[in-house]
Amino acid sequence: MIEFRNVSKVYDSNGTHALSNVNIKIEDGEFVFVVGSSGAGKSTFLKLIMHEEKPTEGEIIFNDYSSATLKKKQVPYYRREMGIVFQDFRLIPKMSVYDNVAFAMRVIGAKEKEIRKRVPYILQLVGLSQKARSMPNELSGGEQQRVSLARALVNNPKVIIADEPTGNVDPEMSHDIIQLLSEINDMGTTVLVVTHEHELVRQFNKRVIVIDHGRVKS
Ligand code: ADP
Repeated sequence: MIEFRNVSKVYDSNGTHALSNVNIKIEDGEFVFVVGSSGAGKSTFLKLIMHEEKPTEGEIIFNDYSSATLKKKQVPYYRREMGIVFQDFRLIPKMSVYDNVAFAMRVIGAKEKEIRKRVPYILQLVGLSQKARSMPNELSGGEQQRVSLARALVNNPKVIIADEPTGNVDPEMSHDIIQLLSEINDMGTTVLVVTHEHELVRQFNKRVIVIDHGRVKS
């Protein structure tokens, strides 16, 4: 479902070779950790999947799309098939937990009736039913990250892409976040987690993609 074919990325601004000749395949339903030290190319790897950056060479295949032929007007539809979780949560501070999650459905034109059914189900899935009316600043880091995960899941994406999802969460909550992602994966969603927390990776028996100086060694 996600395939890199001879992908290299050079940033024009400073000539940095961020990724060199990457060939990798991630199948539907996999759970993958992407690890590597700072500056190794992990964010670039994700940005190429999200089509936030384009490869200098090669192509990225995602389902029926190719980075080589993806048109600008297709990008919003392309991204709808991905749920993205950021290290810094990126919740809307003035909206309740419920509305933060509902908003993701509203922007794609979902009906209120559908929203009223789906949002409580997703909040229950991430263990936040009791917090639906809370505001983001009333929640712990771990809870905020679960809201962010609920928002990523609500439109039923084929893949969840999480960039350092535990970076702003305390250690025991970090385990719970990965556990939750693992349960979501068991329900059929492909999951990609970038992390530099080796201890966390050791606790879960999942595929690990190592990026080192822009090269994938897996
Ligand atoms: P990681 O996420 O593993 O820390 P990145 O993918 O962010 O690594 O960065 C890989 C390399 O590309 C680094 O040398 C970084 O400085 C460089 N880089 C990342 N983004 C840009 C950019 N927008 N412009 C120029 N260089 C960049």
